[in-house]
Amino acid sequence: MGAIDAIEIEQLSKSYETRDGEVLAIKDVSFNIRRSEFISVLGPSGCGKTTLLKVIAGLEGATQGVAKLNGAPIRGPQRKTGIVFQTPALMKWRTALANVLLPAEILGMPAEQARVKALGLLELVGLRDFTNKFPHELSGGMQQRVAIARALIHNPEILLLDEPFSALDTMTRGQLNVELLRIWNESKTTSLLITHSIPEAVFLSDRVVVMTSRPAQITEIVTIDLPRPRTAEMRVSPEFLKLIDRIGRIIGLEYV
Ligand code: ADP
Ligand code: MG
Repeated sequence: MGAIDAIEIEQLSKSYETRDGEVLAIKDVSFNIRRSEFISVLGPSGCGKTTLLKVIAGLEGATQGVAKLNGAPIRGPQRKTGIVFQTPALMKWRTALANVLLPAEILGMPAEQARVKALGLLELVGLRDFTNKFPHELSGGMQQRVAIARALIHNPEILLLDEPFSALDTMTRGQLNVELLRIWNESKTTSLLITHSIPEAVFLSDRVVVMTSRPAQITEIVTIDLPRPRTAEMRVSPEFLKLIDRIGRIIGLEYV
Protein backbone atom coordinates (compact mmCIF):
# COMPACT_ATOMS: atom_id res chain seq x y z
CA MET A 1 0.00 0.00 0.00
CA GLY A 2 2.96 2.41 -0.41
CA ALA A 3 1.39 5.63 0.87
CA ILE A 4 3.29 8.67 -0.39
CA ASP A 5 5.61 10.33 2.12
CA ALA A 6 4.57 13.80 3.27
CA ILE A 7 7.74 15.39 1.88
CA GLU A 8 10.05 13.99 -0.78
CA ILE A 9 13.28 15.76 -1.57
CA GLU A 10 14.95 14.38 -4.65
CA GLN A 11 18.46 15.36 -5.71
CA LEU A 12 17.81 18.91 -4.65
CA SER A 13 20.37 21.58 -5.43
CA LYS A 14 19.96 25.29 -4.88
CA SER A 15 22.28 28.10 -5.81
CA TYR A 16 21.92 31.84 -5.44
CA GLU A 17 23.12 34.37 -8.00
CA THR A 18 25.05 37.08 -6.18
CA ARG A 19 27.21 40.01 -7.30
CA ASP A 20 30.24 37.88 -6.50
CA GLY A 21 29.00 34.98 -8.58
CA GLU A 22 27.05 31.87 -7.84
CA VAL A 23 26.70 30.59 -4.26
CA LEU A 24 25.83 26.91 -4.07
CA ALA A 25 23.84 26.44 -0.87
CA ILE A 26 22.46 22.90 -1.28
CA LYS A 27 24.06 20.13 -3.31
CA ASP A 28 22.25 17.00 -4.34
CA VAL A 29 20.22 16.41 -1.19
CA SER A 30 17.69 13.57 -1.09
CA PHE A 31 15.55 12.46 1.83
CA ASN A 32 11.91 11.92 2.65
CA ILE A 33 9.81 12.92 5.63
CA ARG A 34 7.11 10.44 6.50
CA ARG A 35 3.68 11.49 7.58
CA SER A 36 3.66 12.46 11.27
CA GLU A 37 7.41 12.13 11.43
CA PHE A 38 9.52 14.62 13.40
CA ILE A 39 12.80 15.32 11.65
CA SER A 40 15.60 17.61 12.80
CA VAL A 41 18.34 19.05 10.65
CA LEU A 42 21.73 19.77 12.22
CA GLY A 43 24.49 21.55 10.37
CA PRO A 44 27.05 24.34 10.68
CA SER A 45 26.03 27.99 10.34
CA GLY A 46 25.70 29.12 6.76
CA CYS A 47 25.58 25.60 5.34
CA GLY A 48 22.19 25.97 3.70
CA LYS A 49 19.63 24.85 6.32
CA THR A 50 17.35 27.87 6.01
CA THR A 51 17.58 27.54 2.24
CA LEU A 52 16.37 23.95 2.53
CA LEU A 53 13.47 25.05 4.71
CA LYS A 54 12.57 27.84 2.29
CA VAL A 55 12.51 25.43 -0.64
CA ILE A 56 10.18 23.12 1.30
CA ALA A 57 8.04 26.14 2.24
CA GLY A 58 7.87 27.15 -1.42
CA LEU A 59 9.59 30.48 -0.68
CA GLU A 60 12.60 29.60 -2.85
CA GLY A 61 12.67 27.52 -5.99
CA ALA A 62 15.03 24.59 -6.54
CA THR A 63 17.90 25.05 -9.00
CA GLN A 64 17.98 21.32 -9.70
CA GLY A 65 15.95 18.41 -8.45
CA VAL A 66 12.60 18.71 -6.77
CA ALA A 67 10.86 18.97 -3.40
CA LYS A 68 7.39 17.42 -3.24
CA LEU A 69 4.55 17.75 -0.79
CA ASN A 70 2.10 14.84 -0.86
CA GLY A 71 3.62 13.73 -4.14
CA ALA A 72 3.19 17.08 -5.92
CA PRO A 73 6.15 19.36 -6.71
CA ILE A 74 6.20 22.44 -4.47
CA ARG A 75 5.92 25.47 -6.72
CA GLY A 76 5.06 28.32 -4.36
CA PRO A 77 4.00 29.17 -0.82
CA GLN A 78 1.74 26.48 0.55
CA ARG A 79 -1.35 26.80 2.66
CA LYS A 80 -0.52 23.36 4.02
CA THR A 81 2.66 24.66 5.68
CA GLY A 82 3.17 26.46 8.98
CA ILE A 83 6.49 28.20 9.65
CA VAL A 84 8.22 29.38 12.84
CA PHE A 85 11.35 31.50 12.40
CA GLN A 86 14.14 32.28 14.86
CA THR A 87 12.60 35.62 15.77
CA PRO A 88 8.88 35.51 16.57
CA ALA A 89 8.11 38.59 14.40
CA LEU A 90 4.84 39.38 16.14
CA MET A 91 2.83 42.47 15.34
CA LYS A 92 3.37 44.91 18.19
CA TRP A 93 -0.10 46.40 18.12
CA ARG A 94 -1.87 43.04 18.16
CA THR A 95 -2.56 40.99 21.27
CA ALA A 96 -1.31 37.40 21.50
CA LEU A 97 -4.72 36.21 20.38
CA ALA A 98 -4.89 38.66 17.48
CA ASN A 99 -1.39 37.63 16.38
CA VAL A 100 -2.40 33.98 16.32
CA LEU A 101 -5.48 34.95 14.33
CA LEU A 102 -3.59 36.87 11.66
CA PRO A 103 -3.08 33.95 9.23
CA ALA A 104 -6.72 32.94 9.78
CA GLU A 105 -7.80 36.41 8.67
CA ILE A 106 -5.51 36.33 5.65
CA LEU A 107 -6.77 32.89 4.67
CA GLY A 108 -10.38 33.89 5.27
CA MET A 109 -11.16 31.24 7.88
CA PRO A 110 -14.58 31.63 9.56
CA ALA A 111 -13.97 34.09 12.42
CA GLU A 112 -15.64 32.31 15.34
CA GLN A 113 -14.15 28.94 14.41
CA ALA A 114 -10.70 30.54 14.14
CA ARG A 115 -11.13 32.23 17.53
CA VAL A 116 -11.99 28.97 19.25
CA LYS A 117 -9.04 27.27 17.56
CA ALA A 118 -6.68 30.14 18.50
CA LEU A 119 -7.73 30.02 22.16
CA GLY A 120 -7.18 26.26 22.18
CA LEU A 121 -3.71 26.69 20.71
CA LEU A 122 -2.79 29.41 23.20
CA GLU A 123 -3.85 27.04 25.95
CA LEU A 124 -1.80 24.27 24.36
CA VAL A 125 1.33 26.45 24.42
CA GLY A 126 0.65 27.46 28.03
CA LEU A 127 -0.57 31.01 27.41
CA ARG A 128 -4.18 30.81 28.45
CA ASP A 129 -3.81 33.71 30.84
CA PHE A 130 -1.94 35.85 28.34
CA THR A 131 -4.29 35.89 25.36
CA ASN A 132 -4.94 39.63 25.64
CA LYS A 133 -1.37 40.69 26.32
CA PHE A 134 0.66 42.60 23.77
CA PRO A 135 4.07 41.30 22.64
CA HIS A 136 5.99 43.80 24.83
CA GLU A 137 4.19 42.32 27.85
CA LEU A 138 5.47 38.83 27.01
CA SER A 139 8.89 37.24 27.59
CA GLY A 140 10.94 35.97 24.63
CA GLY A 141 9.84 32.41 25.30
CA MET A 142 6.20 33.46 25.47
CA GLN A 143 6.52 35.36 22.21
CA GLN A 144 7.94 32.28 20.53
CA ARG A 145 5.04 30.26 21.94
CA VAL A 146 2.66 32.72 20.28
CA ALA A 147 4.58 32.25 17.01
CA ILE A 148 4.18 28.46 17.32
CA ALA A 149 0.44 28.82 17.95
CA ARG A 150 0.21 31.19 14.96
CA ALA A 151 1.94 28.63 12.73
CA LEU A 152 -0.65 26.01 13.72
CA ILE A 153 -3.85 28.08 13.40
CA HIS A 154 -4.73 26.79 9.93
CA ASN A 155 -4.06 23.13 10.76
CA PRO A 156 -0.97 22.84 8.57
CA GLU A 157 0.09 19.42 7.39
CA ILE A 158 3.73 20.40 7.74
CA LEU A 159 5.32 22.43 10.52
CA LEU A 160 8.67 24.01 9.62
CA LEU A 161 10.75 25.40 12.48
CA ASP A 162 13.92 27.36 11.73
CA GLU A 163 16.01 27.54 14.92
CA PRO A 164 12.98 28.72 16.88
CA PHE A 165 14.66 28.49 20.28
CA SER A 166 18.16 29.76 19.48
CA ALA A 167 17.61 33.19 20.99
CA LEU A 168 16.24 31.81 24.27
CA ASP A 169 18.03 31.00 27.51
CA THR A 170 18.74 27.33 28.25
CA MET A 171 15.95 26.93 30.79
CA THR A 172 13.26 28.43 28.59
CA ARG A 173 14.58 26.40 25.70
CA GLY A 174 14.25 23.18 27.68
CA GLN A 175 10.68 24.08 28.62
CA LEU A 176 9.79 24.84 25.02
CA ASN A 177 11.30 21.54 23.92
CA VAL A 178 8.91 19.75 26.26
CA GLU A 179 6.05 21.88 25.00
CA LEU A 180 6.83 21.26 21.38
CA LEU A 181 6.90 17.57 22.17
CA ARG A 182 3.46 17.84 23.73
CA ILE A 183 2.13 19.77 20.73
CA TRP A 184 3.50 17.15 18.38
CA ASN A 185 2.02 14.38 20.53
CA GLU A 186 -1.42 15.97 20.27
CA SER A 187 -1.37 16.96 16.62
CA LYS A 188 1.15 14.50 15.11
CA THR A 189 1.91 17.21 12.57
CA THR A 190 4.76 16.26 10.27
CA SER A 191 7.60 18.49 11.48
CA LEU A 192 11.00 19.68 10.33
CA LEU A 193 13.13 21.44 12.95
CA ILE A 194 16.38 23.18 12.19
CA THR A 195 18.55 23.44 15.27
CA HIS A 196 22.12 23.74 16.51
CA SER A 197 21.40 21.74 19.62
CA ILE A 198 22.16 18.02 19.48
CA PRO A 199 20.17 17.24 22.67
CA GLU A 200 17.19 19.16 21.32
CA ALA A 201 17.34 17.26 18.03
CA VAL A 202 17.64 13.88 19.77
CA PHE A 203 14.92 14.61 22.32
CA LEU A 204 12.32 15.63 19.76
CA SER A 205 13.05 13.65 16.63
CA ASP A 206 12.40 10.35 14.96
CA ARG A 207 15.40 10.98 12.73
CA VAL A 208 18.18 13.56 12.66
CA VAL A 209 19.65 14.69 9.36
CA VAL A 210 23.28 15.75 9.82
CA MET A 211 24.57 18.09 7.12
CA THR A 212 28.02 19.15 5.94
CA SER A 213 29.24 22.73 5.71
CA ARG A 214 28.21 24.63 2.56
CA PRO A 215 27.13 23.42 0.14
CA ALA A 216 24.82 21.40 2.39
CA GLN A 217 24.98 17.70 1.71
CA ILE A 218 23.76 14.92 3.96
CA THR A 219 26.50 13.38 6.07
CA GLU A 220 24.25 10.87 7.76
CA ILE A 221 20.66 10.37 8.83
CA VAL A 222 20.53 9.06 12.39
CA THR A 223 17.45 7.16 13.55
CA ILE A 224 16.48 8.07 17.11
CA ASP A 225 15.13 4.81 18.44
CA LEU A 226 14.11 6.16 21.84
CA PRO A 227 10.56 5.12 22.78
CA ARG A 228 7.64 7.53 22.65
CA PRO A 229 6.14 9.24 24.46
CA ARG A 230 9.43 10.89 25.37
CA THR A 231 9.87 12.15 28.89
CA ALA A 232 12.18 14.75 30.39
CA GLU A 233 13.90 11.94 32.37
CA MET A 234 15.02 10.32 29.14
CA ARG A 235 17.42 13.21 28.64
CA VAL A 236 19.81 11.66 31.14
CA SER A 237 19.34 8.03 30.10
CA PRO A 238 22.38 6.11 28.78
CA GLU A 239 20.61 5.57 25.41
CA PHE A 240 20.05 9.31 25.06
CA LEU A 241 23.64 10.17 25.93
CA LYS A 242 24.91 7.53 23.52
CA LEU A 243 22.97 9.16 20.68
CA ILE A 244 24.32 12.59 21.67
CA ASP A 245 27.83 11.18 21.59
CA ARG A 246 27.27 9.43 18.26
CA ILE A 247 25.96 12.57 16.55
CA GLY A 248 28.72 14.65 18.15
CA ARG A 249 31.26 12.32 16.60
CA ILE A 250 29.61 12.55 13.18
CA ILE A 251 29.80 16.34 13.41
CA GLY A 252 33.38 16.07 14.61
CA LEU A 253 33.03 17.37 18.13
CA GLU A 254 35.57 16.13 20.61
CA TYR A 255 34.42 15.26 24.09
CA VAL A 256 36.93 15.06 26.91
P1 ADP B 1 22.03 28.37 7.29
O1 ADP B 1 20.57 28.53 7.52
O2 ADP B 1 22.49 26.95 7.34
O3 ADP B 1 22.84 29.22 8.21
P2 ADP B 1 21.45 29.64 4.72
O4 ADP B 1 20.57 28.68 4.02
O5 ADP B 1 20.81 30.81 5.34
O6 ADP B 1 22.35 28.85 5.79
O7 ADP B 1 22.56 30.16 3.71
C1 ADP B 1 23.37 29.28 2.96
C2 ADP B 1 24.27 30.09 2.05
O8 ADP B 1 23.49 30.74 1.06
C3 ADP B 1 25.07 31.17 2.77
O9 ADP B 1 26.34 31.24 2.20
C4 ADP B 1 24.27 32.43 2.50
O10 ADP B 1 25.10 33.55 2.47
C5 ADP B 1 23.69 32.15 1.13
N1 ADP B 1 22.40 32.79 0.92
C6 ADP B 1 21.27 32.59 1.64
N2 ADP B 1 20.25 33.30 1.16
C7 ADP B 1 20.74 33.98 0.11
C8 ADP B 1 20.17 34.92 -0.84
N3 ADP B 1 18.87 35.25 -0.78
N4 ADP B 1 20.97 35.41 -1.78
C9 ADP B 1 22.28 35.05 -1.87
N5 ADP B 1 22.87 34.19 -1.03
C10 ADP B 1 22.12 33.66 -0.06
MG1 MG C 1 19.56 29.61 8.98
